[in-house]
Amino acid sequence: MIGWVLKRILGTQNQREVRRLTPLVGEINRHEEALRALSFDELRGKTVAFRDRLAKGESLDQLLPEAFAVVKNCCRRFTEEKRRIRVRGQEILWEMIPFDVQLIGGMVLHSGRIAEMATGEGKTLVATLPTYLNALSAKGVHIVTVNDYLAARDADWMGEVYRELGLTVGCLQHGQTQAERRAQYACDITYGTSSEFGFDYLRDNGMATTPEDQVQRGHFYSIIDEVDSILIDEARTPLIISGPVTVSTHQFDKYKSIIEGLVRKQNTLCTDWANQAKERIEKGDLQGAGRLLYKVKLGSPRNKLLLKFQEDPGTRRAVDDAELEMYQDTRRTELYKTKEEMYFSIDERNSEADLSQMGRTFLNPNDPNFFSVPDLITTNHDIDSNAGLSPEEKLKAKAAAQADYEEASQRIHNISQLLRAYCVFEKDVHYVIQENKVVIVDEYTGRLMPGRRWSDGLHQAVEAREGVQIDRETQTLATITIQNYFRLYEKLAGMTGTAETEANEFKDIYRLGVVVIPTNRDCIRKDADDLIFKTRREKLNALIEEIKKRNAAGQPMLVGTASVESSEIISRMLRRENIPHSVLNAKQHQLEAEIVARAGERGAVMIATNMAGRGTDIKLSPGVAELGGLHVVGTERHESRRIDRQLRGRCARQGDPGSSQFFISFEDDLMRNFGDSRKIAGLMTKLGMEENEGLQHPWLNRSVETAQKRVEGRNYQVRKHTLQYDDVMNQQRTVIYAWRSDMLNSTDPRPEVFETVDERIASEVEARAGTDPVDLDGLVHWANSAMPVGLQKEDFQKAGGKEEWAKLLKAKVREAYEVKVKFENPEAVKALERFVVLGAIDRLWQEHLYAMDGLRTSINLRAYGQKDPLIEYKNEAYGMFGELMGRIKEEVVHNLFRSASSLSAFESFLSALPQRAGRGDLPMEAAAQPTEGSMSMQAEGGSTVVEEALAPMRRQGPKLGRNDPCPLDPTKKFKNCCGSTGSKGCLKVGG
Ligand code: ADP
Ligand code: MG
Repeated sequence: MIGWVLKRILGTQNQREVRRLTPLVGEINRHEEALRALSFDELRGKTVAFRDRLAKGESLDQLLPEAFAVVKNCCRRFTEEKRRIRVRGQEILWEMIPFDVQLIGGMVLHSGRIAEMATGEGKTLVATLPTYLNALSAKGVHIVTVNDYLAARDADWMGEVYRELGLTVGCLQHGQTQAERRAQYACDITYGTSSEFGFDYLRDNGMATTPEDQVQRGHFYSIIDEVDSILIDEARTPLIISGPVTVSTHQFDKYKSIIEGLVRKQNTLCTDWANQAKERIEKGDLQGAGRLLYKVKLGSPRNKLLLKFQEDPGTRRAVDDAELEMYQDTRRTELYKTKEEMYFSIDERNSEADLSQMGRTFLNPNDPNFFSVPDLITTNHDIDSNAGLSPEEKLKAKAAAQADYEEASQRIHNISQLLRAYCVFEKDVHYVIQENKVVIVDEYTGRLMPGRRWSDGLHQAVEAREGVQIDRETQTLATITIQNYFRLYEKLAGMTGTAETEANEFKDIYRLGVVVIPTNRDCIRKDADDLIFKTRREKLNALIEEIKKRNAAGQPMLVGTASVESSEIISRMLRRENIPHSVLNAKQHQLEAEIVARAGERGAVMIATNMAGRGTDIKLSPGVAELGGLHVVGTERHESRRIDRQLRGRCARQGDPGSSQFFISFEDDLMRNFGDSRKIAGLMTKLGMEENEGLQHPWLNRSVETAQKRVEGRNYQVRKHTLQYDDVMNQQRTVIYAWRSDMLNSTDPRPEVFETVDERIASEVEARAGTDPVDLDGLVHWANSAMPVGLQKEDFQKAGGKEEWAKLLKAKVREAYEVKVKFENPEAVKALERFVVLGAIDRLWQEHLYAMDGLRTSINLRAYGQKDPLIEYKNEAYGMFGELMGRIKEEVVHNLFRSASSLSAFESFLSALPQRAGRGDLPMEAAAQPTEGSMSMQAEGGSTVVEEALAPMRRQGPKLGRNDPCPLDPTKKFKNCCGSTGSKGCLKVGG
């Protein structure tokens, strides 16, 4: 009820907003009519005139109606002259003039909000309106696409309008050199993916050593296409540039065999319980069975017997009941006791692993405490209150306790990562082994992600489990989350077919409002109720029957899957039935775009993971509308309703006919982990479900949606959590990057260097003068060892108080420096001065990032105590940052005078440059998932290995050898499949 009322209010708010913008549409159209009388040259002249008016103080808002009209009129001219445009090697006939709803979409984008416009409404064209307007400012407009291919496509296609009107257009592509990138950013408009933009920012600010190394020129206005996919799905993946760690702390190989023993023990235990549960079921004691099976779930969530029992809704319900019972507050002790009956417990939802006393004793019978975290707080307290210890002894005792604590934490961390590797992660589901390496499978798209690694040691733990070589851990050199990158823009806007369900998050995190734009024509898509099956097998069989039926009638179908694995299963089944189809896995963007564009042809069957072919328009071919248009089948409900809506939205564009339906089963991950099976099983009994037959009812849809909302809520919390931690880092990064950038861009670095020196002197003087008695000896010692000032104690005594000491030092240090640089080449001196500061910032900042990583891990351990980890984290991070700033200053003072050593450091710094500030051959860059610990790219050392690590990530385009496996059907050679001339390649797979 409340929801309904809210919706009414939101709905009307939205309508009000659209209504508010509508009068402007009339104005734009009137201007456009007037423009028709102009010559094309006169139309082009408008750009210059607009820029003049801007310079004279008019605002972009004032120019909007006329500027939009110019774009619209340009489109009209293209359409009338039947202009053909070369887009990625193909000619496309221009035949679009923005509709009124598109003009409204453009205004929403200009106002810095998200325009929700359904698939096929022409968002690509919509973006040209605000882009042209904002590009008039010459500050650069960035348009973000989901992949490199779409960036290039849109720059070619929409670029025609901008270029015609006298603006310049650039496009970022992976592997471009620095000079190329700078040229793209210098354009009025730049297309590219979020990671290309983000990594350029990191390189510009974390690695560039001269202003010429920097490629971006500010963050004025950005429009993000498929904004939900970028800001929500990818928000969990910070961008990381990393290099190998110098010292590795892992002990996985050491603990591997003992953990294997432990896991074996636990499995025996759990299988015993599962068998006992079987007996109980036979005796009709479902409740007892449920309790036993719940224990199995805690101890070994992927136990085969357990999974089998859970196929039965009744048993499932019993397990859920047992779990619910345990989580009641009054039963907490019982839960704790239950956990103590096994060697360790696993929480699959949060993927955490916890040793019990039993487990600790198994691992080290003589000293079970070896595997528990010492209580540092109590220990420190005891030390403090021990009257028998001198202050110095107390310090020593505390340091020893701290060292113990760290060692134990390290040990436990290793063990728990190994347990996760053994019990939560499954080969061929979460990862595959390729060429003796553990390759991650992306949970969202099902793509293989060669070169990416889970962080925090998890990847190494899995390597240990699989017996492949354990690669070195990596260290973060620079990092930013996608969220924080986009917060840099003065104005941000986005467009997508699906933003409404996440409107709150957009508002909270990005302060982006969502406006739903009405479609140009009414949408007549028919969404059928979900079909629910008991098992995956039954579901797939029914699915194949459905495909067969519709295919026989000639209706085209798009089958959406959640993973590459399930795409392949369905493809195999279709092949057996001799149904021609193609499989798209979001690996070959351009090729797949070309193929998916044909999904609306008579008899076409496309199986696609959810990112495959995104952004490509599916048009119906003649005769298909009469068959009901494109039919979309979802083979699994996704964790998020938004992704399902996106899949559905791929059909019935622009008033076309179309329909959609989801096939789901109780064995799907969503249902297994988050479904309220009790309720669903109840419903199913009520509705009367037969074996082997799917059930369909609006009530069931609602239950599924409840499960989805639950996961959405949890994922939102995870993202918010990541952001809260990252905010701390973001503030620090802002300070450091601003300092770095000042240094980098300063034409005369010396005053700034001396400002730093002065601050250092002031704080040292302050500290030495603040003791009682005043530590003048210390000051003299520090001064002479840090700087060649040659001052004696008497000099200070003669000078007076602490103010005079600082003055004296500041004067002396300048004198000394003058002497030092007198005969040097002034330009070289400037470079050296810059280096002194940049080198210190970079070295210590990277160390700091490493320490902050460590802090993140240890804070989580601390959460076991009663403290709020975020507050602890903020406090410690603040302290560490203060120290960092002090140490950077100290290092600047130090290095300023070590000409010999600083020169050699300078040289090695320079020789490392191609690697530090290069392009594709940079250190490693990656995106990470904090939920699983972060992932990052890694390589063993120099840039050649880095090249190799990056190679698979490069978009290769369809440049394949004829004998290579076909990307769309790896069982065939390319020349016999897509690469074959004459036939339709992959479209014929299986036929
Ligand atoms: P979206 O990104 O919203 O899903 P696209 O930008 O891919 O949609 O456009 C979908 C199709 O609609 C494209 O084929 C495009 O040429 C066409 N289109 C867009 N705007 C218009 C228009 N005003 N008139 C005619 N066709 C249009
Ligand atoms: Mg699009």
